[in-house]
Amino acid sequence: MKFLEYRNIGLRKYIQAFFVLLSLNIGWQFLSFYRFLESSGFSGSPVRPPGVEAFIPLSALVGLRSWLGTGFFDTIHPAGVTLLLAAFVVSFLFRKSFCSWICPFGLLEEMLSQVGFKLFREKIRMPRWLDIPLRSVKYVLLAFFVGSVFLMMSPDAAVSFVNSPYNKMSDIKMLEFFLNISMTGFLVFAFLIIMSVIIENFWCRYLCPYGALMGILGWLSPARISRNEALCTGCGACDRACPGKLTVSSSKSILSPECSSCLTCIEKCPSAGALRYHIPGIPKPQNPVLKKYGLHIAMVGVYILLIMIAKAAGHWETSVTNEDFRMLYSMLDLY
Ligand code: SF4
Ligand code: SF4
Repeated sequence: MKFLEYRNIGLRKYIQAFFVLLSLNIGWQFLSFYRFLESSGFSGSPVRPPGVEAFIPLSALVGLRSWLGTGFFDTIHPAGVTLLLAAFVVSFLFRKSFCSWICPFGLLEEMLSQVGFKLFREKIRMPRWLDIPLRSVKYVLLAFFVGSVFLMMSPDAAVSFVNSPYNKMSDIKMLEFFLNISMTGFLVFAFLIIMSVIIENFWCRYLCPYGALMGILGWLSPARISRNEALCTGCGACDRACPGKLTVSSSKSILSPECSSCLTCIEKCPSAGALRYHIPGIPKPQNPVLKKYGLHIAMVGVYILLIMIAKAAGHWETSVTNEDFRMLYSMLDLY
């Protein structure tokens, strides 16, 4: 049987860095748009970056609810729904790869883990009796959000929420939360950062409901890491390197929702061919460039292609005009 196989992951860091820089640029543009609203158009930029809607996932979830329930595609934050759907597709096709290839928080978590490794000279692991219940927290949070939106909210209520002034200004409110962060908010972020330094992938592994959703889609994915028992020496380098704490060295295939297709296990494996990433039924490319970088191109390419299709279909730019935004901003305290 033919398989699509890859061993190269060096480019992943650059891809992650690209999405972090893109996110910072979006944040900068959105701050300038905020200054525009705040100054009644006298300073800042009138251009609002649609990509900021990636950071209001709950609004995107309600937008998805309204679309599935009524056929009405969110025109207030269409980019948010588009980016959520693109993350779904990439995570399904390439096993939760959104988390380790595209999400800017994924790279932040990896960097904080590196700081912890430099400080403590070893990876600190949660004891198993605590790790298992803590891992379920992100699924509980996911169940709460999905249940609130899909079970407790009617399709018409979802459409009303999408068109509400509160939703129109939800990204602005999020920005104001960070610009005027309270002591409680600051302490929560400080706690998360410290815990992510001490415990590898603390936020992603235990608390992120978005990652939990991507993990469930990844669990359904045909893509997987497989181990060739004949070539494996049992050295355990893959187990030690795996950020998902998976026991790669004793598994035939990795089917866990915790696997984010980061490919670190393959990179660290000293025995060529012992581990491979493959999608059953997809033939191995013969072109040397595709052989080396095909997976990178496919993961990012699918994500960007879906965004381009959504843009062409008119599901990217908000229908809210700058005049509406300025009027809503002047009444922001009422929402
Ligand atoms: S098994 Fe672990 S190291 Fe290998 S791709 Fe999955 S998460 Fe990464
Ligand atoms: S690193 Fe490679 S050789 Fe070592 S246990 Fe894992 S799969 Fe086997």
